[in-house]
Amino acid sequence: MIVGVLGAGQLGQMLALAASRLGHQLRFISPDADAPAGHFAELIVADYENEAALAHFVEGLDVATYEFESIPAGAVRYVADRVTTYPPPLALETAQDRAREKECFERLTIPTAPFAVVESMSGVRGALEKTGTPAVLKSRRFGYDGKGQGVIRTRDEIGSAWVKVGGVPAIVESFVKFTRELSIIAVRSSTGEKAFYPLVENHHTDGILRFSLAPAPGVSSQMQATAEDYATRVLDALGYVGVLAIEMFETTDGLVANEMAPRVHNTGHWTIEGADSSQFENHLRAITGMPLGSTEMGGAAGMVNVIGTAPDVQRLRTLDNVHVHMYGKSPAPKRKLGHITVTADDLDGVRSKVAQLRHAMTR
Ligand code: AMP
Repeated sequence: MIVGVLGAGQLGQMLALAASRLGHQLRFISPDADAPAGHFAELIVADYENEAALAHFVEGLDVATYEFESIPAGAVRYVADRVTTYPPPLALETAQDRAREKECFERLTIPTAPFAVVESMSGVRGALEKTGTPAVLKSRRFGYDGKGQGVIRTRDEIGSAWVKVGGVPAIVESFVKFTRELSIIAVRSSTGEKAFYPLVENHHTDGILRFSLAPAPGVSSQMQATAEDYATRVLDALGYVGVLAIEMFETTDGLVANEMAPRVHNTGHWTIEGADSSQFENHLRAITGMPLGSTEMGGAAGMVNVIGTAPDVQRLRTLDNVHVHMYGKSPAPKRKLGHITVTADDLDGVRSKVAQLRHAMTR
């Protein structure tokens, strides 16, 4: 099949590698001539608003998808009007707007932090009546990796948070006292088949994912079932096809949904080596109507993001059960340049391997 992908970053690169194993052909579109996926498959270099380029992109496609959340919704609608597009544009439009995303969780009775929509700084004052303090102000759109967010510990900080977020339409939500951050990667195929990977434990610094551990330690079968149930509600409500990630907080009162990503996700990169079938393979299987691959994992896996500066890749490649993925990007502060997955029989094995890896990365 010929699969069109809007966006061509590292997620596209890993989709392209999975596609070659499934016998699918990918075609990407991105304004970036040097986009990572362009080194692995056909790339149309054009702005997403360029209708002539979009018309060229959809020609002969069997199905289309996207790997980047900030794709203009209009471009996805244009493509979806001409070729079957998964996940459905509704899923992207929901995830692009934090207010709609939180309303979706609430409508599906998935626990989420109390929130209020705000248009102005004076609106923030009123919103705090509902959320209390501390609270987090988040721009409704284009927030990722902790960008477009400000914490309001006391009312004195309303002004600085509003400035930090850029004075744009936003939401205010209660600060969640979480014990850790988890995510569930779920997949639903065009035939309605569903599968879930084990919950993953995620560690962020400055809002950027640094490390994931799978399976998340100490997760009861009941907690896994609850996460799968929440994901199922979203998948079914949105008529979803493809991979969906939901980021959650673990609290003493249970799981609280934070946000969703309608695409393959950084907290699922470990599945390439850590699970029978990767999230990338399963996304492609789902959108092309193939049976889903097994999401079982034999042992345990850890994933370390390579951020800002590149390590000595040749040396890391000499370590056992250490799998280095570089995205071919030039180094820049806070930029995700690659990731490294370690696999072991159990979580203790992963932890000691990660310590060894970290040591090798800093030498
Ligand atoms: P987000 O962009 O929503 O994923 O937020 C980035 C990071 O900020 C999350 O991974 C959390 O560590 C933190 N965060 C976001 N929302 C909240 C909240 N309501 N309470 C506490 N921490 C939060």
